[in-house]
Amino acid sequence: ISKVPISPGLYIVHIAAEMAPIAKVGGLGDVVTGLSKTLQKRGHLVEIILPKYDCMQYDRIHDLKALDFVVESSFDGKQFKNKIWVGTVEGLPVYFIEPLHPSNFFWRGKFYGEPDDFKRFSYFSRAALELLLRAGKKPDIIHCHDWQTAFVAPLYWDLYAPRGLNSARICFTCHNFEYQGTAPASEMASCGLDVQQLNRPDRMQDNTSRDRVNPVKGAVVFSNIVTTVSPTYAQEVRTAEGGKGLHTTVNLHSKKFVGILNGIDTGAWNPAADTFLEIQYSATDLLGKAENKSALRKQLGLSHANPRQPLVSCITRLVPQKGVHLIRHAIYRTMELGGQFILLGSSPLSHIQEEFEGIAKQFEHHDHVRLILKYDESLSRCIYAASDMFIVPSIFEPCGLTQMIAMRYGSIPIARKTGGLNDSVFDINDDTIPLQFRNGFTFANADEQGLNRALERAFNHYRSHPVSWQELVQKVMNLDFSWDSSASQYEELYSKSIARARSFHRT
Ligand code: ADP
Repeated sequence: ISKVPISPGLYIVHIAAEMAPIAKVGGLGDVVTGLSKTLQKRGHLVEIILPKYDCMQYDRIHDLKALDFVVESSFDGKQFKNKIWVGTVEGLPVYFIEPLHPSNFFWRGKFYGEPDDFKRFSYFSRAALELLLRAGKKPDIIHCHDWQTAFVAPLYWDLYAPRGLNSARICFTCHNFEYQGTAPASEMASCGLDVQQLNRPDRMQDNTSRDRVNPVKGAVVFSNIVTTVSPTYAQEVRTAEGGKGLHTTVNLHSKKFVGILNGIDTGAWNPAADTFLEIQYSATDLLGKAENKSALRKQLGLSHANPRQPLVSCITRLVPQKGVHLIRHAIYRTMELGGQFILLGSSPLSHIQEEFEGIAKQFEHHDHVRLILKYDESLSRCIYAASDMFIVPSIFEPCGLTQMIAMRYGSIPIARKTGGLNDSVFDINDDTIPLQFRNGFTFANADEQGLNRALERAFNHYRSHPVSWQELVQKVMNLDFSWDSSASQYEELYSKSIARARSFHRT
């Protein structure tokens, strides 16, 4: 196969529900910003379209202004005006859509978790395409993400390409196959999609329920490029256990499906320049890391008598996927082993949030354990910097960013071998992996024994081989988790898809 030359100046538009740091729930937000920044640096024109949420971090949007230009889009058979705002986030041009719709779709004080999420995001997907059409934009790539903007793929081919917005190839990235956004088929009509045409087994019909539609399935079927966020997860979702009902669809479309490991934004996550830290540090100056550990222990009211007491932490959404029972177990096991434990997390599920609030209360004044049950980016940075070890005991994990951020800050990951963790954390004792890639402690089974073994090995190593531990810390800090190599893989996919379309048009 001849190698396709990378097109130098592509015009790429991301349509997404999240963007770090202004509207972030999890990894999706980091990916949109990190990938876009890197593609922009490589000479492409990258724009992002987001909903104008009331709860964004407005102080991190520069030059935000409303355009004169109002875009009308159709929903439930009526026309609604949308106010369009533009601003700069992390150096990237962002369009914000504010629907002038009586349901106040993005004026809810939160990003997701509303009973009408299907309406909110199918509305947004359509309005975003309408904006591109009305503004006369001619993107080469429209890149949509997760079920919230998966509607873009069928809407583009069914409604917008015929109206003249036809310059683009559609790329869809699924960041987590657990969230598919299914709904009764009739709901799809609101945004203008044809229920009769699309509620079919080879199109958008959910594979387990004939009267429901599945936006993620629709995007897999209707996009030119489909990606997920790590090679191992791409394999896992092709199996019945991993695919959450979509494995047959993914297998049918396997030619256009690929797993690309996410990177992290190494500019935004950099202990040598992180102003939220007590003191900046680097792999060649680890005293600063010790100072951050001491400062955080004081700040949280933990004992700081022994600087060599191992500090284990975990930063996560508390959802079953993340192995909440193992996280809870790790708190107690760490204590038994004589370490300290910090959990920063919050849960959209009230029973889990309440359970952890109970545990938090139990340890409220404890010398060695602290649970902080909220979302707090600046605290997360201090924790990444202060920790010696970082646990990620996920049941499944499409990519996972926390293990990479932890390493960048010199915290050694203890991770379950699944999904993207399997592509980024390699056990220090695994002889099948070249020495230079080994960077942490892994375990195969998602049970307490598995986690215990890995945790104990980490504690032994930390205590018995301090010099080797410090070398490990330096090594993981120097590993390259930047977006460079992943962005170049996206660049190649984009270019190939564009080249295919052009050669098709010529013949
Ligand atoms: P997911 O997307 O499944 O939530 P990832 O590991 O891909 O998991 O991304 C998680 C991101 O969210 C990381 O940047 C992590 O630092 C951040 N994060 C998760 N929980 C919190 C929290 N409670 N406070 C601050 N940041 C958090």
